[in-house]
Amino acid sequence: MELKITCIPGDGIGPEIVAEAKKVLDKVGEVYGHSMNYTDILMGGASIDACGEPLTDEAIATAKAADAVLMGSIGGDTTTSPWYKLPPNLRPEAGLLKIRKALNLFANLRPAVLYDELSGACPLKDEISKAGFDMMIMRELTGGLYFGERKTVTENGKLKAIDTLTYTEDEIRRIAIKGFDIAMKRRKKVTSVDKANVLDSSRLWRKVVEEVAKDYPEVKLEHMLVDNCAMQLVKDPAQFDVILTENMFGDILSDEASMVTGSIGMLASASLNDTKFGLYEPSHGSAPDIAGKDIANPIATILSASMMLRYSFDLDKEADAIDRAVKQVLKDGFRTGDIYSEGMTKVGCSKMGDLIAERIL
Ligand code: NAD
Repeated sequence: MELKITCIPGDGIGPEIVAEAKKVLDKVGEVYGHSMNYTDILMGGASIDACGEPLTDEAIATAKAADAVLMGSIGGDTTTSPWYKLPPNLRPEAGLLKIRKALNLFANLRPAVLYDELSGACPLKDEISKAGFDMMIMRELTGGLYFGERKTVTENGKLKAIDTLTYTEDEIRRIAIKGFDIAMKRRKKVTSVDKANVLDSSRLWRKVVEEVAKDYPEVKLEHMLVDNCAMQLVKDPAQFDVILTENMFGDILSDEASMVTGSIGMLASASLNDTKFGLYEPSHGSAPDIAGKDIANPIATILSASMMLRYSFDLDKEADAIDRAVKQVLKDGFRTGDIYSEGMTKVGCSKMGDLIAERIL
């Protein structure tokens, strides 16, 4: 099969980590008989320097013509980089907002996995972390409180701020379908998180999720209130498979879940639209402090490439091969600086890519 992939190396460590993900994808292509057809586009600071804006319409058209987008990271040092002296709509991050909008990416997926070999980085008590965890937070990305009408008015001489939380049944249905589809590729459990004891939007959320669940009889559905979910994530994270939730709850819970893993260089992410198309990127930023030194951890980007194979191309076997290779490299004792612990072998970004590619079987 030919995989048409648009790559956004971006800024900072972006080009280094994307190069390693391509190395691993090429090895997957070799072993499993696929051809990788990459086209690079500029975004963020790199595009500002070359084209005077963080993302051009031509770059968007190139991204749209592909089957998926694999991104490194964009942005520079926000205190010293000249990019941050520009008006907000011309800064690097504006490129990210523009591409998400142009590609209609409404579903954000963030896996939080605790690897046995890295359990020392988990801030939870041993008796909780030893059970391990492997969950997927599925967050609605374009609706809810962050996109509702807002205003600040004066009432009886006092300021009053109003934010509006709105969801339509269609917005809920399309993300719920994505959540159940993804659960079918995993352990077939969905925890839908809401605040249905208080909010109307949550009561509608629950009703629509239950309707969608009828089409997925193999998937076990449970509902959980968001405050309870925040507690359960630190009390018993092993209980979760797919957590399906709205925009603001997902924003908070996905950061909580990633912190529980303890290692920022390991966290992949994906943003999907209602076709198979998606944008895949590590959860971390462009780490300008370590750029160009060949010490960044490329694993989050390599795991994002694995998600791309699984969710945009339905190549589950190939994605499993990447996930297995990452586990094996950790088992064999290789670590980049950010996840290094005593007794392990410290390697750079490029060597880590080589070691993972070698383990694709
Ligand atoms: P960051 O994630 O880039 O870095 C935070 C810390 O983690 C730094 O010490 C960095 O060295 C380390 N780190 C991050 N990724 C690493 C990796 N793969 N290997 C080893 N260490 C790693 O966050 P920041 O410093 O707040 O932001 C830097 C820039 O990245 C800013 O311009 C910010 O706007 C941008 N950013 C971009 C995205 C994106 O492209 N989606 C996301 C977050 C931040």
